[in-house]
Amino acid sequence: MSPELDTIGVLGGMASASTVEYYRLIDQSINDELGGHNDGEVLIRSVNFGEIERFIRNQEWETAGERLAAAAQELEAGGADFIVMATNTMHKVAPAIADAVTIPFVHLVDVTADAITDAGLETVGLLGTQPTMEQPFYRDRLAEHGVDVVVPDRADRETVDEIIFEELTHGETSERSRRTYLRVVDDLVEDGAEGLVLGCTEIELLIGQDDRPALPMFDTTALHVERAVERSLGYRRC
Ligand code: GLU
Repeated sequence: MSPELDTIGVLGGMASASTVEYYRLIDQSINDELGGHNDGEVLIRSVNFGEIERFIRNQEWETAGERLAAAAQELEAGGADFIVMATNTMHKVAPAIADAVTIPFVHLVDVTADAITDAGLETVGLLGTQPTMEQPFYRDRLAEHGVDVVVPDRADRETVDEIIFEELTHGETSERSRRTYLRVVDDLVEDGAEGLVLGCTEIELLIGQDDRPALPMFDTTALHVERAVERSLGYRRC
């Protein structure tokens, strides 16, 4: 008999390189749990990243919120039981999206904060796009959970952002970029980071825990998927 699974609505395509990972990890995790041919009940609404990238570049957050809220409503109409949005940056407009649907919106920053506090850490380094590293929507939400953030200096923030948009969101990685990221990570540790948030859903394509085994890393893609799977299986409600 097939188990009852809640349907996971993935608001994705930001960029598709990480949405592919969400889909792969969801199906793999549910199969690991249930065995046989079981895997996820998943609806993916993938938007045009060209449009989203322009919204970010032009700071058109209100329009972005309307666009993503409409896509989230399509997920709800299609039968999703809850929504995960597969990007850190666009959580800037999470309130507009959550308000537009009646099903739960599982906020990536809350899930990440839970993992950080469960690990007993208070101060973490944050790598992501410039809005994620610089604007209050991300750091303030972590602060609500008692987590402080350190970010790279301005020049390094620009470099980290550029690598995301020029390489990672195209599904590309290079050894040069990997070395750059790890140098920035080491600087964050010097500045007091006890752990590191991989605060862009594509960063796990470039660096990971194996690169700095002594530094706890919080992979937002893996954590968000884990929570979505737990909800789908009915293991947790929030
Ligand atoms: N996926 C990335 C993130 O997690 C960056 C792309 C975007 O701006 O959505 O922030």
